[in-house]
Amino acid sequence: MPDTRFQRVLLKISGEGLCKPGAGGIDGEELHRLATEIKLVVELGVQVAVVVGGGNLVRGSVISVDSPIEETTGHYMGMLATVINALAVQDTLESLGVPTRVQSALAIASVCEPFIRRRAIRHMEKGRVVIFGGGTGNPFLTTDTGAALRAAEIRAEALLKATKVDGVYTADPATDPSAKRIERLTYNEVIDQRLRVMDVSAIDLCQRSKIPIIVLDLKHPGNMSAVVQGKGIGTLIDS
Ligand code: UDP
Repeated sequence: MPDTRFQRVLLKISGEGLCKPGAGGIDGEELHRLATEIKLVVELGVQVAVVVGGGNLVRGSVISVDSPIEETTGHYMGMLATVINALAVQDTLESLGVPTRVQSALAIASVCEPFIRRRAIRHMEKGRVVIFGGGTGNPFLTTDTGAALRAAEIRAEALLKATKVDGVYTADPATDPSAKRIERLTYNEVIDQRLRVMDVSAIDLCQRSKIPIIVLDLKHPGNMSAVVQGKGIGTLIDS
């Protein structure tokens, strides 16, 4: 057992984490930066699962506006986009020597495994990073909800939510210089104050499963490994 605060974590990265700010698509440098952070955590002996979003490629609610594409189809397209991102993260991690498996909530047998909970846990026990694509497999939901669901299913000890800033702030730090980082919040405070950390359904699932959420900035080197070692980085959300 590694001598770290958490032995098994689930990392949620938005699709925007795979591209340059505002650019969309998939950027090799960003992928490399992300995979390097994950590798540091794997090297500590911590079991890592990853849920990737797809917003850098397709958002169901956006692509279907003023379009012949039905909203439901748009959501399926968004879920497929998350599988594309999962494959990109997989190859980048493997190029750094980190063994991986991709599991998808949508059946795509020729490119990845289906989601099988017990198999995912077994992969992690063998030191493989399991990347979950396809969100929850259901339209009208988000990969944040998918991340909370998978975290509960694999009994992750923490859900690490990567964002553009290093935690939850009292205001938007990009526009308000007086904005202050909040070190700790309860699940109820996040829901009651409508803090846009994750969907309410994701927060609710974490609360019911007693999974702390740690909001952190993954673009800052070493942050993720510092968090799993118990350093007070970002914002901790628990009961
Ligand atoms: N999506 C969905 N069901 C899910 C997860 C995702 O329908 O369980 C669709 C939805 O259209 C969403 C898109 O996939 O807009 C991309 O996911 P998300 O917006 O969560 O990605 P992120 O914002 O994390 O990049």
